[in-house]
Amino acid sequence: MKVIESIFREYDIRGTYPEEINEGVISIIGQAIALKCKQEGITEISVGRDGRLSGEILLDSMCNSIAKSGISVTNIGLVTSPILYYAAKKSVSKSGIMITGSHNPKDDNGIKMVINDKPVSGTEILSLTKCVPEFDKTKKEIIKINIIEDYINDVLHKITLNQPEKVKVVVDCGNGAAGCVAPELFKRLGCNVINLFSEIDGNFPNHHPDPGKLANLQDLIKAVKDEKADLGLAFDGDGDRVGLITGKGNVVFPDKIMMLFAEDVLANNNGGQIIFDVKCSNSLAQIIEANGGEPVMSPTGHFHIKNKLRETNALLAGEMSGHIFFNDIWYGFDDGHYAGVRIIDLINKSDSSIDEMVSRLPESFSTPELNIHVGDDMKFDIVRKFAEECLLDGNKITIDGLRIEFSNGWGLLRASNTTPKLVLRFEGKSEADLKSIQENFINEFKRICPEIDSTMH
Ligand SMILES: [Zn+2]
Repeated sequence: MKVIESIFREYDIRGTYPEEINEGVISIIGQAIALKCKQEGITEISVGRDGRLSGEILLDSMCNSIAKSGISVTNIGLVTSPILYYAAKKSVSKSGIMITGSHNPKDDNGIKMVINDKPVSGTEILSLTKCVPEFDKTKKEIIKINIIEDYINDVLHKITLNQPEKVKVVVDCGNGAAGCVAPELFKRLGCNVINLFSEIDGNFPNHHPDPGKLANLQDLIKAVKDEKADLGLAFDGDGDRVGLITGKGNVVFPDKIMMLFAEDVLANNNGGQIIFDVKCSNSLAQIIEANGGEPVMSPTGHFHIKNKLRETNALLAGEMSGHIFFNDIWYGFDDGHYAGVRIIDLINKSDSSIDEMVSRLPESFSTPELNIHVGDDMKFDIVRKFAEECLLDGNKITIDGLRIEFSNGWGLLRASNTTPKLVLRFEGKSEADLKSIQENFINEFKRICPEIDSTMH
C-alpha cells in the first residue's frame, strides 16, 4: 500500500476518495494514530464521521485499525466535528478522530484529530506512518455509543431562553452532518424552527454545505424573508462553522458576529482575552478593548487558534471563516451549532433584532476574502517575498503573511493553509479609504511579483 504524502497537510489530512484516501490508507493512518496515543499514554479514543458517501467504510477501517493496534475505540458514528470534540472532551483520554471532508468537494474526505486535548498535525502523523509500531497487538474492543443526546442536554443545561417560542429561525444544514443534531437542538431549545436540507446526503443535492460562499446562502436568505423569520443559520458540512442571516436577509460576516459575542462574553466576565484571526476587522479589537477585554490576534487556522486558546485560556475565539470557539461556559472547541444557540440567546436577552444589533456596530467598509490563484508549491514563497520587499508604510504584522495597518484601514496578504491560493482582505474607514488601500496594495503586489496573475476572485 502506497500512501500519497501530499494528503498529510500541516494541520489535517485531506484527499480524494478512493484515489488518495481509502480503506488501506486509513488503516495505515490508524496505526500511526495508535502509535501517537501510546506515546501520549492514551488507551482509548473516540472516532466519528460526517455524512460523506465514503464516511462509513472509512470509519470502520479506522476503528478496526486502531483497535488492532492496541487502543480501545469508542465509535460515536455519524456526527458533526463539534460532537466528536465534545465526546473527546468528556472522555478520560481527551482524544478523538473525526473522518470529515468538511466543506470540500463531495468526493474528498479527511481527518481532524485531537489527542490528549491537543490538535495534531497531518505532518506529524505522516512521520509516524514510517515507524513500525512495536507494541503488542491484542485487539482491543470497539464500543458504539450515541452521544448526541448528552450534547443536546448539556447545551440546554447551560443555555435557558426566557421566551424561545418568540424566536423564529430557519436552519440550513445543506444536507451535511449538522442534520444529525441541529434540527433537534433548536427544537428542544423551544424555538420556532424551519428546517432546510436537514436530510444527510453526501451527494449534497441542493447546495454545497459551505456558508462562506454567498451562492450557498441564497436558499436560506429567501426562506428567512418568505417566512418572516428572525434569523437564518447555516452550517458547513461537518457543523464546525456557522453562517448568519438577519431577518432582513442580510449576511453577517463572522467578524461582526464575533463583535456581538465579545460584548456578551465580556459583560458576563470581568475582562479576559478574546482571540481572532488576521482576517478580522479592526473594529473587533476596538470593541473588545472598549468592553474591558484584551484582543489577541492569531494566525488563521483551527490549529493555531486551538493552541492559542490552550496557552491563554481566553474566553472566546473566532475566525473570519466562521469557526467560533466559546471557552466561557462551553468547552473551547469550534462549534457552529452551539454558536447558533448563542446567537439566539443574544436575541432572547435583547429587545433588539439581529439587524438592529448589527446596525449599532461601528461602520466600516471591507471586502470579503479575496483570492489569487497560485500553485500550492509557490504560495508561501510569494507571501515571504511580498512581506520582505513591501514598501508600503504602516504597522506591519507578520504572524501570518503580511497585514499592514494604516491610519485609515488595513490590508492583508497571506497564503491559504488548505488551498493553492493567496488570501487577501481589505478594510477602510470610508469607501474611498478602502478603494485606495486595495489599489496601493495590489500595485505593490504587481511591482514585487510581476510574473503572477493578480486577478482576484
Ligand atoms: Zn468544517
